[in-house]
Amino acid sequence: MGFFDLFKKKKTEEPAAPQGSTAAPETESPEVATPEAVTEQEAEAKQHEADRRELEAGLEKTKTGFFSKLARAVAGRSTVDADVLDDLEEVLITSDVGVDTTVKIIRRIEERVARDKYMNTSELQSILREEIALLMEESNRKEEDFGIEVKPGMPYVMMVVGVNGAGKTTTIGKLAAQLTKAGRKVYIGAADTFRAAAIDQLAVWAERAGATMIRQEMGSDPASVAFDTLKSAVANGAEVVLIDTAGRLHNKIGLMNELTKIRNVMAKVIPDAPHEVMLVLDGSTGQNAFEQAKQFTQATQVTSLTITKLDGTAKGGVVIGISDQFHIPVRYIGVGEGVDQLKMFDRKEFVKALFGDEKN
Ligand code: GDP
Ligand code: GDP
Ligand code: MG
Repeated sequence: MGFFDLFKKKKTEEPAAPQGSTAAPETESPEVATPEAVTEQEAEAKQHEADRRELEAGLEKTKTGFFSKLARAVAGRSTVDADVLDDLEEVLITSDVGVDTTVKIIRRIEERVARDKYMNTSELQSILREEIALLMEESNRKEEDFGIEVKPGMPYVMMVVGVNGAGKTTTIGKLAAQLTKAGRKVYIGAADTFRAAAIDQLAVWAERAGATMIRQEMGSDPASVAFDTLKSAVANGAEVVLIDTAGRLHNKIGLMNELTKIRNVMAKVIPDAPHEVMLVLDGSTGQNAFEQAKQFTQATQVTSLTITKLDGTAKGGVVIGISDQFHIPVRYIGVGEGVDQLKMFDRKEFVKALFGDEKN
């Protein structure tokens, strides 16, 4: 791969070879191209490494909690028997994987134990790793533009929903920053008009990111803000639109009506908008996050998930349970408050961060 990158770099940068007497001797050109290409590769590798370390740090509490419980469950036992499975069940449930998903995992391991007769407890870890990896939906998006499919001509519209405090505004801010950094023109709609502070908080993020925010007075109609945002985004050739919403869950009908109204109004400007409805869940709330996912998926069509605050919790098991139960791909995970601490979710990286590298 490295070789082809070098080759590509050289090819694209050198066809305009200087003509005439100023041309550099041919033998020198590889030396000119190589250090630059290597530096770029190195930068990419460094970024990847930094991402990996940040992800591991963000999942540290979950990992420590899970493995210390697991170690206790198998201590002094050599084979996986019914007692070990009972304890494993408890480990998974107390790690917030959720009852249904836990039962599913236990059942699958039981089947394997029945097949293999004697399963060593030392094998349990790698088997768990396999089963967990199998359960999780893969988001399967390309890394460019932070996973968003930017098409020319019409902005990609993402509506962000979730309860108050879940991390919607922060996630939008981080996302906007990543996208503008990648050279994208980003518009943000402040459709959480419930509190003035919410609008101001979003404004700070938008400014920091270099994105344009469309706002109205506090208390104005969120659908109207969404409408204005899309109109303005289209008129100004924006490529991505992120719509912040209020997460009032006091009753489902109210929520449903409000989200439906916002969607309908957006469709007046861009018929297939919103292209994505992302539900943001606070990972540190464990079982509550499951409940919220249930409520929101009933209130509106949710197409992707972001799970935040995994850095501050040992309840990171929710990512496993939620992706298994709702069959909605996890798009991003939040592992800190910093701009770079929103990561594209990658099933393999996630399992690797929890279980370490595969041992074969
Ligand atoms: P909203 O009400 O859904 O818009 O939530 P906010 O974006 O205002 O976030 C609520 C709080 O959670 C803020 O203090 C954020 O800084 C914090 N927060 C959001 N995402 C993360 C995360 O991934 N890690 C940590 N540690 N804090 C986060
Ligand atoms: P409904 O009859 O109450 O469902 O209203 P609509 O679905 O037509 O619009 C819902 C909201 O979107 C309204 O409160 C308007 O503020 C806003 N809206 C709809 N059309 C327009 C428009 O042409 N301009 C602006 N600024 N807002 C609009
Ligand atoms: Mg907010």
